[in-house]
Amino acid sequence: MDVGFIGLGQMGKHMSKHILDAGNNLTVLDLNKDAATHLLKAGAKWCDTPGAMARSCRMVITSLPAPQDVEQVVYGPEGLKSGWKNGDIYVDMSTNSPATIRRIAEDAGTMGVEVLDAPVSGGTRGAEMGTLTIMAGGKPATLEKARQVLETMGKKIFSVGDVGCGNIAKVINNMIALTCSSISAEGFVLGVKAGIDPQVLWDIITISTGNNWALQQYASGVLKGDFSPSYRLSLGYKDIGLATQMGKGYQVPLPVASAVEQKLVEAMAAGLGDKHVDAVILRLEELVNAKVRSKEK
Ligand code: NAD
Repeated sequence: MDVGFIGLGQMGKHMSKHILDAGNNLTVLDLNKDAATHLLKAGAKWCDTPGAMARSCRMVITSLPAPQDVEQVVYGPEGLKSGWKNGDIYVDMSTNSPATIRRIAEDAGTMGVEVLDAPVSGGTRGAEMGTLTIMAGGKPATLEKARQVLETMGKKIFSVGDVGCGNIAKVINNMIALTCSSISAEGFVLGVKAGIDPQVLWDIITISTGNNWALQQYASGVLKGDFSPSYRLSLGYKDIGLATQMGKGYQVPLPVASAVEQKLVEAMAAGLGDKHVDAVILRLEELVNAKVRSKEK
């Protein structure tokens, strides 16, 4: 199939490569052309605008940072909308606002374009290994048309409901994961301050009831002092904001998520936005003069 992919960042650079490796004709685009080097070398084609991509590809996929970036790619000058044809398929794999993707799907529908929101979970490692969990919202028939391409990126594909439902699942997942990251930071700083070796604490908790995915990532991240951004803190800030916005929209109070959001506001204000999301621990470490690092570090 002729597939276009826009957004070749931490996730997209791997996801798009799987599509190409599976034998599809791939056309790519990013604000930064260097991000496409490995794909162009492997046989992908470059495209200068989303509109031109929509004109030449039957299916276009986006993996972009935030709702405003998706809106720019769809509605901006020479955006996807300017090139869509009847029968095209648009799959947004960004973590996006359900309301934004629903609005886009409505517009696209008037042009005969089918839309799926298909955000992913599994991190950059899952993207690299092609083992992402994909949460698809949209018509089951559209999912079937896209399935072969989606299966190159992830084996666990869920049909969640109408367009937007993929992102409802994804935003809730991230709200829970980000809460685990913040509470793990508090627990580990407290442990170090109270005199426990953080590596021993990690060995215990990762096989105890406090185990969580964010904490498991501490082994290669916080404990080693490595805050290189596979999942940028600024994306976590966006994701928790999408969750609290949904809470307001549905009038569901989210006091715990709101506290986590404030921790991320604080970390953003401290200039940590381009570090890994677990860098939220750095502010607390600084405040109480404690470092959560394993001894080998
Ligand atoms: P990223 O910032 O690393 O990559 C985004 C890419 O989009 C960048 O290369 C950027 O140049 C490009 N881009 C931005 N605006 C553009 C535009 N107008 N036109 C063309 N290209 C544009 O982000 P990422 O970590 O790859 O995440 C992508 C999406 O996947 C986000 O919505 C994120 O929340 C979600 N996600 C990320 C992870 C993770 O672990 N990093 C995990 C699951 C989901």
